[in-house]
Amino acid sequence: MTVTKPGGEYDSVEMLESSPDLSSAGQGTRVLRPRRAAPADIVRPTRAEVNLAALRHNLHAVKKIAGSAKVWSVLKADGYGHGAPAVARTLERAGAEGFCVALFEEAIELRDAGIRVPILVMGGYYGSSHADVIARGLVPVVYDLAQVESFARAQRAIGANAPLGVHLKVDTGMARLGLRHNELAKFAEKLSQFPEVRVTGLMTHLACADAPTNAETEEQMLKFDESTALLAKHGVRPDVRHAANSAALGRGSAKLDAVRPGIAVFGHSPVPINEELWQVMRVRTEVVSLRTIEPGDSVGYSALWKASRTSRVATIPMGYADGLSRALTNKGHVLIRGKRAPIIGAVSMDMSMIDVTDVPGVSVRDEAVILGAQEGPLGKDTIRAEQVAAACGTIAWEILTSISRRVPRFYREP
Ligand SMILES: *Cc1c(COP(=O)(O)O)cnc(C)c1O
Repeated sequence: MTVTKPGGEYDSVEMLESSPDLSSAGQGTRVLRPRRAAPADIVRPTRAEVNLAALRHNLHAVKKIAGSAKVWSVLKADGYGHGAPAVARTLERAGAEGFCVALFEEAIELRDAGIRVPILVMGGYYGSSHADVIARGLVPVVYDLAQVESFARAQRAIGANAPLGVHLKVDTGMARLGLRHNELAKFAEKLSQFPEVRVTGLMTHLACADAPTNAETEEQMLKFDESTALLAKHGVRPDVRHAANSAALGRGSAKLDAVRPGIAVFGHSPVPINEELWQVMRVRTEVVSLRTIEPGDSVGYSALWKASRTSRVATIPMGYADGLSRALTNKGHVLIRGKRAPIIGAVSMDMSMIDVTDVPGVSVRDEAVILGAQEGPLGKDTIRAEQVAAACGTIAWEILTSISRRVPRFYREP
């Protein structure tokens, strides 16, 4: 039976259709078939524009900071919401030396997009796909012996004559994934029973790289050095070590042989850095409806906003199902005619209302920018993901990855 490729190219329009051509699928089986949206499918003016030039600029900025360390850009969660295949193709051409993803499915999506550089699968979930991990030339991260055993078995099954390279994850303080220091010796001893697998990389993840002081990171890096030494004593000597996420790029001790920046490549640094990064994503829509309401009139579900003066209200076709968080109710802003205008009332699923009383001249079809820059007759401004995140009490990572599949991505140069 044919199933949809995990992480296939989904787009804003997706159809659930029966598949009479799949004889083995049996009567009445329904197969979810993702399909690429043609521009003609995009009727709603809500879309995310991904600036590929900004992406390349950020990669080069990150490479400068990384110095001699290799840059393995992290493209999990559909490339932080930007569309992993297009992002990966752009970065690979611009000199990215490798990619990291969380899931096996995400790695397959990149290979299917023609990506050839090494891909590290960090989450460690392989299900029954060990043979596919090997066949697609992926680098699995492991953190327990059962994973090693499964890969060894898969290697034997295909009669591989060279060991499979894996990266071992060590927990130095994140307490999420990875072997704790006191588990390393036992792991290393048992590892020798599986000559089909070789630990070529050693990694850890930093919990507090964005903290104002270096203390927590230094402590983790110290533990990482101790773990490295202990493993070496037991005959495990990886070729490369890596620890740094975006926030740790500027922390010298964390650079090692490679770095794993995620959000920095999309234009957001969690800490101040010397290089300028450009926000890659711009989310825009258009005003679809306008009305004038009187003092005392309310706006939206539960009447959470009431007019204190005669007000001009613009409706935009973007709501929480698109990734415009409901936490922005009476809090967020959008740019219209180059000027910031407040979101008023409860953000609804598909739409939101904007107070444009102080934005003279707004008409239907005017552009409204949710994220990114706009220049208009009334000025020029930029809404950063960090600002949206602060308004809804979260972090820029969540803002970017929340822009939902319903919002089509458009790729552009400048
Ligand atoms: C997500 C992730 C990164 C990248 O984090 P950023 O803060 O976006 O740079 C690096 N390493 C691991 C293990 C991760 O899960």
